Amino acid sequence: MAKLPLRGRLAPSPTGALHLGNARSLLLAWLSIRSRGGEVVLRMEDLDHPKVKPNTARQAREDLRWLGLDWDEGPELGGPYQPYTQAERIQVYREALERLLSKNLVYPCTCSRQDVENAQSAPHAGEESPPYPGTCRGRYPSYAEAAATLPDGRLPAWRFQVPQQTLEFTDGFCGRQAEDLSRTSGDFTIARHPEGAGYQLAVVVDDAAMGITEVLRGDDLLQSTFRQLLLYQALELQPPEFVHVPLVVGPDGRRLAKRHGDTRISWIREAGTPPERVVGLLAHWCGLVDEGTQVTAQDLVDKYTLSALPHKRVIVTDKVQQYLGIG
Ligand code: GLU
Ligand code: ZN
Repeated sequence: MAKLPLRGRLAPSPTGALHLGNARSLLLAWLSIRSRGGEVVLRMEDLDHPKVKPNTARQAREDLRWLGLDWDEGPELGGPYQPYTQAERIQVYREALERLLSKNLVYPCTCSRQDVENAQSAPHAGEESPPYPGTCRGRYPSYAEAAATLPDGRLPAWRFQVPQQTLEFTDGFCGRQAEDLSRTSGDFTIARHPEGAGYQLAVVVDDAAMGITEVLRGDDLLQSTFRQLLLYQALELQPPEFVHVPLVVGPDGRRLAKRHGDTRISWIREAGTPPERVVGLLAHWCGLVDEGTQVTAQDLVDKYTLSALPHKRVIVTDKVQQYLGIG
């Protein structure tokens, strides 16, 4: 098979502002590709409508630029695989859903469950739902019949039927991974309703359609990778290489979030902290430079190696916040 051009993506969700945690993963994703001369795509993952905040997508682009990250294709810029904003790609997901339907791999689900609601966003640490018990599997002969059982205004979701099978892949950082999803997650939601593709389906369809060859992201999405591999298999698409990196957490060990104080990039920027100081800190966390170094993202391109990355989580303390002028 011909070697594909190396392509990676930055895929922020404009449901919240970029903070030190997302920024660290995005910097790594960018460096991994740029250090090998590959192409970077920016994609906005904005399917979680009620939670998408106005201006957050623009803000994310500004934050990324301020950090010195660039991309070859994306919203505004365009490119051969446009559009690069998920809300504009509903038709593409719809077609993928049709393909899964024609193979009898999905079924309508009328359960009103939290995991149906949550399916629009990537399930980050602590957001995984309990396994689905399979209540609606084989229950309805058609979508219309499932819909007829629901009150007006509610539509059945589509669930992907998970086979009993141990899936395996080799992660570029975490090594060999194996899981039988039928034991851990059960059948999972891929669309909240026929036009409402969720994260797992959209991310697979988009990464494949956009020729992405490497997905580097936080290791709280490692479990999602098994679901995505099943979708690649079902849609007969070539999966990318996966690289999952340790999370950035607060002093309580939980994924960095608002409760740990304001670590938004925009806030650090407004505090007058130079980007080189922030990038230097992120790079230090990645094992690339000494503590206290100030560098640009571009300076790191020649220094980058994933083998320097520590396997332990990064903890953001008050000291870190003071160092960045936000403590
Ligand atoms: N848009 C997702 C997020 O920001 C990232 C999903 C992914 O990298 O697969 O949480
Ligand atoms: Zn159900």
